Amino acid sequence: MNNNQTAAFPRIIIIGGGFGGIQLAKKLNKQEVEVLMVDRHNYHTFQPLLYQVATGGLEPDSIAFPLRKVFRSQKNLNFRVADVLRIEPEENKIITDIGDYSYDYLVIATGSETNFFGQKEIEHFAMPMKTVPEALNLRSLILQNLEEALIEEDAERKKALMTFVVVGGGPTGVETAGALAELRNHVLISDYPELDIKSLRIFLIEGGSRVLEPFSEEASAKAKQFLEDMGVVVYDKTRVNFYDGQKITYNDTETIDTKGVIWSAGVKGAIIPGMDKAEIVRGGRIKTNTYNRIVGYDNIFAIGDLAYMETKDYPHGHPGVAQVAIQQGKQLGENLLRIINNEKAKDFDYYDKGSMATVGRNKAVVDLKYWKFQGFFAWLTWMFVHLLFLVGFRNKAVTLMNWIINYFSYDRGTRVIIRKFNRELMKEEAIAK
Ligand SMILES: Cc1cc2nc3c(=O)[nH]c(=O)nc-3n(C[C@H](O)[C@H](O)[C@H](O)COP(=O)(O)OP(=O)(O)OC[C@H]3O[C@@H](n4cnc5c(N)ncnc54)[C@H](O)[C@@H]3O)c2cc1C
Repeated sequence: MNNNQTAAFPRIIIIGGGFGGIQLAKKLNKQEVEVLMVDRHNYHTFQPLLYQVATGGLEPDSIAFPLRKVFRSQKNLNFRVADVLRIEPEENKIITDIGDYSYDYLVIATGSETNFFGQKEIEHFAMPMKTVPEALNLRSLILQNLEEALIEEDAERKKALMTFVVVGGGPTGVETAGALAELRNHVLISDYPELDIKSLRIFLIEGGSRVLEPFSEEASAKAKQFLEDMGVVVYDKTRVNFYDGQKITYNDTETIDTKGVIWSAGVKGAIIPGMDKAEIVRGGRIKTNTYNRIVGYDNIFAIGDLAYMETKDYPHGHPGVAQVAIQQGKQLGENLLRIINNEKAKDFDYYDKGSMATVGRNKAVVDLKYWKFQGFFAWLTWMFVHLLFLVGFRNKAVTLMNWIINYFSYDRGTRVIIRKFNRELMKEEAIAK
């Protein structure tokens, strides 16, 4: 596709090959439209399993899937690896690091990015976990800290190297803290016989009144109990104020010495500059109407984590979860065809399939509309659903094999430092992104 060639059919540009972007593009297959998908990565990231990459449970390739492969039989779609730098709505074009592209309709499906709430020191020293490279950085940091602890003679420094603090008690924080505890309890204990691994401390700090706040109280209480049984120290109603790379401060005066803070306390919409008429609401999301059209524009739409849509059932917007992105992507695909054919677009109506989070082997919580359950069966359900939504047969098969081996061997095969974590390098990558 040339950047600005005259298209025989209306040209739809989709920015982002995440959960929403992929479903939308698939709906446009074999339709009389020309689709260009642009993503800064050449792969789709299955974010719900990033924490398993970070804790050595899965290889990164198992949760990343090449976007070209997803669409190789879709004749009306072209794909470009590019960072979209700016949108020029008046000109109907996007500006990317590889050139400009014109559109008739634009869909922004860029998801969200880590929100440090303007706390620069925390942003500098804490570890985010939103992308595959970030999960790999975290995996390296965990292992490097232990290698360093092994030769550290200063007792205080050794303790800090062996202390991990997860900030944010949502599903990501709970799953990460649980996976760290499993790593400690089953794997590191035999990997590091010279270290007193039992003294490796894991804290989970949550600002709200309970972990897994959007879940039922029953699920929250059970998740907390699971974590505590596994040796995680859980603090709720606790605000983190500061982290300087050595010490994390919470509730203004309390501190923990730690060289490993994992930040899973919030996300904000990944907004691309240029849409001056758009209304940005809390959480950096863009306000859309009830069929994902961005308020203020006729031919620009937003879906998924980035979109803020008020409906009767969701007066404060939808949750930032994969199902919302998937369902909005599918529906917008149908609606774009309606709009192109001068038909009326249908309002989006989210069907909530329930929520689930896993804490460790045989331990998960599941909240369905009419049924809430926890423990082994919840854990099986969690695994089944995650395998179902992983993109690609190979990824499903490799992940399943890994889980079976890990389960029976109590091991995690991928605890390797492929690339040493270097904070300065990480900063450079973030700037380049
Ligand atoms: C660690 C973690 C765990 C999670 N666990 C769960 C879970 O268990 N269950 C659940 O339902 N949800 C979970 N979520 C949330 C879920 O992943 C998101 O709701 C979902 O990914 C949103 O889909 P999306 O299509 O809006 O964006 P994404 O899937 O994030 O895709 C956005 C895409 O846009 C691309 N992009 C962004 N900016 C640009 C740009 N400027 N130029 C080019 N490309 C760009 C990105 O590379 C990415 O491929 C989790 C999220 C995280 C981070």
